Amino acid sequence: MLATVANLKKVAQASAVSISRRLCHAALAGLLLSGIVESASADTWVAAVRVWPAPDYTRVTIESQKEINYKIFSLNNPERLVVDLLDTPLGTHIKQLPSRIAPDDSYVSGARVGQYKPGVTRIVFDLAQKVNPRILKLKPIREYGHRLVVDIYPSVPIDPILALLKGDAGSKNAGQNAGNRTQAPPASAVFVPKDIVTIAIDAGHGGEDPGAIGRRGTYEKDVTLAIARKLKALVDADPKMRAVMIRDGDYYIKLSKRVKTARDARADLFVSIHADAFRKSHARGSSVYALSERGATSAAARLLAAKENEADLIGGVNIDVEDAMLKQVLIDMTQTNTINESLKLAKNVLGELGTINKLHKPHVEQAGFAVLKAPDIPSILVETAFLTNPQEERKLRNSKYQRKFAQSILEGIRKYFADNPPLVRGKLALQ
Ligand SMILES: [Zn+2]
Repeated sequence: MLATVANLKKVAQASAVSISRRLCHAALAGLLLSGIVESASADTWVAAVRVWPAPDYTRVTIESQKEINYKIFSLNNPERLVVDLLDTPLGTHIKQLPSRIAPDDSYVSGARVGQYKPGVTRIVFDLAQKVNPRILKLKPIREYGHRLVVDIYPSVPIDPILALLKGDAGSKNAGQNAGNRTQAPPASAVFVPKDIVTIAIDAGHGGEDPGAIGRRGTYEKDVTLAIARKLKALVDADPKMRAVMIRDGDYYIKLSKRVKTARDARADLFVSIHADAFRKSHARGSSVYALSERGATSAAARLLAAKENEADLIGGVNIDVEDAMLKQVLIDMTQTNTINESLKLAKNVLGELGTINKLHKPHVEQAGFAVLKAPDIPSILVETAFLTNPQEERKLRNSKYQRKFAQSILEGIRKYFADNPPLVRGKLALQ
């Protein structure tokens, strides 16, 4: 079911879904071939530097041919973070880092780089506030080389719920949710119909993890965000619904945190939006998935779940910490009931998608998707269409079609609620 790192790598190789190769990889190969690199064996050549500002932290990724050893320390007055890259020459990619810091970055106000001493490149981040940095090394996966990831969190973490409610949609239901957070509803409230339902919308992938890549260079992470934003607008236009965006920018959020954010926001439903890929371009059609209690409903569904769960390895997560969570068995009475609800929701959404696009298969499938593991929120994963199919890639890039996908997901949600009215749930012990 949920694969280990080694297994995931095998799956990645076997499924061969990755169509494009990253430019940085090609550039690195070119550099090596041209003989410019004199002592490649001694140095860790940096192939790319990327900066991903997110609402709750800023991530800086340094990708290299070899593992980079480092020293990291903080300086006060003013606040600075220093990262020394050992055995690493000051190359063009590192030199470009200062220009990659966004002017509106909440945590990093600027960066300076230099050759501190022979073989040691120093990066000094000027900070906008006191921070709590975390650094991790990621092993090569798919088209990525070694990555050193510096995550710059504020020393006082921001409240994700407050951030979610800051949007104008939040005011619609802020009172209700704030109330739920601070006190458990009275027992009698458990069966009271809800006035406003909260839909958690998860745009798949993001940041370091582009997801599938189409033949015309379309990134799944961009398409999923575009459709998610259109779905949010449609949901918020309904006075009985409000949307919570799990990801609303180009950064990566680990799968377990996507689930946690939806639970913290007291979401009634969770919809994860994706676009499919296959090594052959004829594969096409929409699919909808739910979590399985045990085993997948088909080999294809199992492979897909393994591929989607691989996002954490690509997006950049300390897998040792996450492994326990990914492997934990959550199945109990609540989960069984939640999966039944997820299947009903999935069927309705699949039916609606069938009115605007071919269906990949005429039924809902199930597998061990990590992002669908909220024990108490019906959750589905929608593979809108195949990015690797030229006709469907065109649809996925088209704003009108993106809206159609969003509209049919919403119609599916409405039909599900028509048969299964949302109730105010008691506060679950599970947190
Ligand atoms: Zn995906």
